[in-house]
Amino acid sequence: MRRKVTILGATGSIGQNTIDLIRRNLDAYDVVALTGASNIAQLARDAIDLKADIAVTAHDNLLDDLRDALAGSGVQAAAGSAAIDEAAARPADWIMSAIVGAAGLSPGYAALKQGTTLALANKESLVCAGQLMLDTAAQHGTRMLPVDSEHSAIFQALIGEEISAVERIIITASGGAFRDWPLEKLETATLAQASSHPNWDMGQRITIDSASMFNKAMEVIETREYFKVRPDQIEVLVHPQSMIHALVGFVDGALMAHVGPPDMRHAIGFALHHPARAALPVERLDLAAIGSFEFRAPDEVRWPALRLARETMAAGGMNGAVLNAAKETALDGFIAGALKFTQMSQIVEDTLSQMQRDCSLIRDTMSLDNVTQVDHLAREAAKAAITKRAG
Ligand code: NAD
Ligand code: MG
Repeated sequence: MRRKVTILGATGSIGQNTIDLIRRNLDAYDVVALTGASNIAQLARDAIDLKADIAVTAHDNLLDDLRDALAGSGVQAAAGSAAIDEAAARPADWIMSAIVGAAGLSPGYAALKQGTTLALANKESLVCAGQLMLDTAAQHGTRMLPVDSEHSAIFQALIGEEISAVERIIITASGGAFRDWPLEKLETATLAQASSHPNWDMGQRITIDSASMFNKAMEVIETREYFKVRPDQIEVLVHPQSMIHALVGFVDGALMAHVGPPDMRHAIGFALHHPARAALPVERLDLAAIGSFEFRAPDEVRWPALRLARETMAAGGMNGAVLNAAKETALDGFIAGALKFTQMSQIVEDTLSQMQRDCSLIRDTMSLDNVTQVDHLAREAAKAAITKRAG
């Protein structure tokens, strides 16, 4: 039977890798919806190629462009964030959530109500609203599968195991663009330098988050939310080769590692075929040729984001939504040239302390509305912090 699939964030790095896998076996799938933002040409081309029912852009003002690009193809066009939520709610057996940022939360949440499978690349939704996502999945009988190399690795290492037998979880980090830079030079890091990753080819935002370690900070929280382990059971290990993605340590001292090339089509393909394993077009590692793997302890002076993740988990409530919103706003500031690379973590720290002091809503019930409101307030607080620091 053909499976109905939807890809939210189809034009991005994860979206395009997902399309690559689907295109190789198109007879097995009916594509329901593809969504994107400003890359209308790509969105329309893929929607026509994959015979999608509907293509949706996040931008209302690009609806006419999308309609023109789809003219005569039979693919419907729609625009705006409500239309993305509506596309996510269209019946599908498998939905990829690969929008970048908190914008992915509402469509991912809509998709979770279908009772089918959500492949979750949008880690921001777990950081902002982990408990809400898990509860919603459980309530509707939806299977939520992680699509992050580390979390897919942990998931795979845990197959057949009891979570109570887990002592610790180690997620690896390449160290990003500035792993070996002298500390005092970090302040001068440019956008172009931060946007180039030593091992992974990813979207620009997550690439910069890898250099600042905010990506790993988010992943520590993602690990806690998804696997329900204690924060003190989660470790970060710098591993420059990015081939061991995560290790799970059990009470008997055994460590189960997941090893593979840095290619997201593995985690995407695992989620696409789960519970089966299917052949995937990823490189087979020649370990003898690689020779050795390297490991280092992470340096929290170089990467304050890791400390901020621990403080966020300890503070609880909706502090994850604050961390994410402040991080996204600081990243916008760095991309726009308003902040230095090293100021991003200062903005996040300022925003977390201000919100913990002034915003009682962060300790209220976690609902989509409350998370959205906290996200909004934290962005305002982060913008004010940027004006103060940079001004
Ligand atoms: P990307 O920037 O390459 O693509 C982002 C996608 O989101 C695009 O389709 C874009 O059109 C869409 N988008 C952007 N803003 C939007 C908005 N406001 N509303 C609706 N859609 C919007 O990002 P990516 O690297 O593919 O990352 C996507 C998600 O997957 C992120 O949450 C990221 O953390 C996660 N992830 C990515 C990788 C990777 O290898 N790229 C690995 C692990 C996890
Ligand atoms: Mg990752």
